[in-house]
Amino acid sequence: MVASSSDLPPVGRPVFAGQGTTIFSIMSALAVQYGAINLGQGFPDEDGPPAIRRAAAEVLLRGPNQYPPMRGVIELRRAIANHAQQFYGLVFDPETQVLVTSGATEALAASLAGLTAPGDEVVLIEPAYDSYRPVAELVGTAVRSLRLEPPYWRVTEEALNAALSPRTKLLVINTPLNPVGRVFDAEELSAIANAVQRTGAYIVCDEVYEHLVFDGRRHMPLMTMPDLMERTVRVGSAGKMFSLTGWKVGWVSGPARLIDLIAKAHQFLTFTTPPALQLGIAHGFSHEMAFPVALTAVLQGNRDLLCTGLSEIGFAVVPSEGTYFLTADISGLTNEPDHVFCERLTREAGVATIPLSAFFSGGGPDHFIRFAFCKKRSVIEEALSRLRTYFSKSPSDRTVP
Ligand code: PMP
Ligand code: GLN
Repeated sequence: MVASSSDLPPVGRPVFAGQGTTIFSIMSALAVQYGAINLGQGFPDEDGPPAIRRAAAEVLLRGPNQYPPMRGVIELRRAIANHAQQFYGLVFDPETQVLVTSGATEALAASLAGLTAPGDEVVLIEPAYDSYRPVAELVGTAVRSLRLEPPYWRVTEEALNAALSPRTKLLVINTPLNPVGRVFDAEELSAIANAVQRTGAYIVCDEVYEHLVFDGRRHMPLMTMPDLMERTVRVGSAGKMFSLTGWKVGWVSGPARLIDLIAKAHQFLTFTTPPALQLGIAHGFSHEMAFPVALTAVLQGNRDLLCTGLSEIGFAVVPSEGTYFLTADISGLTNEPDHVFCERLTREAGVATIPLSAFFSGGGPDHFIRFAFCKKRSVIEEALSRLRTYFSKSPSDRTVP
């Protein structure tokens, strides 16, 4: 006889079983359901350079198509090392100090798994990307939050002092910061450097948006601060650099001692990443670095268009210094919590966004929403036009468009 599921023992671990679907998938599904413009999930709606895609396609046909080396094809590891030297003067040995992963997501998971032991304390800066906490909990660490405060979302010495202690094994930082578009400045980076020097923590820097910084700013890897090289790894993503987010090619670089530990986790997580995609991205590093520069200029224009349009409608826009995203305070338009407002906008105005509270554990501010502007200008114009029409109606007349 087949047992009904109610006869079976409980299954699953609370860290995953107790979670819903990620907010990005939820809002993208709602966008499809209601025919809404998707300014929620952060993916560009135009694919990156054809030459990169062609290079990968040629490898798919010609080979190699079998397992590449566990740490990544050497062409890509060399390209990642050259890029770090060219942009930041950071010197990595491609043999021992660079590891290719299946997206930044895997680089972050392998770093959390490889650099901590159960019971270690990990500090996350909130708002935080949604994958950090579940993985940190999965590997048995005790997670503490350092909360940035709206509307400026600055890292302060006081907040660092309150969150970090000699018990902190690992600090995860993300700059440029998804979802609020902050690019940590020299003062904030020095505060972080001082705090980790004082307490002895290691640092994982999620720098997936390293090229997407606006208004002539420069992204500065924390690792370039004096004496941090030995305790820091930095994580990158080809998806963000070359508008190929579905490829899931990422990397982590840092001192050999830490990369060895991360590689040990990586070898049992994914072992490796499709060789054609790795070689396509290696081609991108050598021939297509003009792409992220041009993309940044386009994104900056999109940001400005969205910022002006949203401000005219009544959103209090928070300046975005980098990434694909900007956030806006919705208190001038509604008393609803952010997720209720986002669902209503998707359903009734035909524009999908992301509630910022999804980036906080245990209840964060619930009056901000995130807009992605890595979309065609015409798509942003259409979204603004829908929002303008929607908010120009009296509340009782706002129905499905
Ligand atoms: N970190 C941040 C801050 C992100 O926004 C993302 C999302 N794309 C990732 C990591 C994951 O990158 P990837 O798609 O390369 O896994
Ligand atoms: N990084 C993307 C964002 O913040 C989403 C990635 C995902 O869907 N997991 O929107």
